[in-house]
Amino acid sequence: MAENDVPAGAFCGVLTPEQQRVLREHGTEPPRSSPLDKEYREGVYYCVGCETALFESTTKFNSGTGWPSFFSPLPGAIGTSFDESYGMRRTEVHCGGCKGHLGHVFTDGPPPTGLRYCINGVVLRFTPTE
Ligand SMILES: [Zn+2]
Repeated sequence: MAENDVPAGAFCGVLTPEQQRVLREHGTEPPRSSPLDKEYREGVYYCVGCETALFESTTKFNSGTGWPSFFSPLPGAIGTSFDESYGMRRTEVHCGGCKGHLGHVFTDGPPPTGLRYCINGVVLRFTPTE
């Protein structure tokens, strides 16, 4: 398809192959590949698939894993499901808006929740607070 065939306004919804791989095919980005892993400004993290606000910077922490990590999502922003792929028992985290795969949640996080949402930075879009 030629570039001219894309309807006006469609560009904001176009995902890169890597974003599609994570969101739609449950892919995982390489650790430390996302610049958002080291992003500690104040702001909000959105889903690149549907622009749902998922996490606030106040819940982000440095897990040392190489993936952006949060101890709590925004209320109602995400869903979880049980994942037994790769011989591991994990809880998958998906976007409450488009149901795209975001990452996994583990129970070794910091207070107050004790949870660690391990999220692929490639499917997050960060908007800093003014
Ligand atoms: Zn989404």
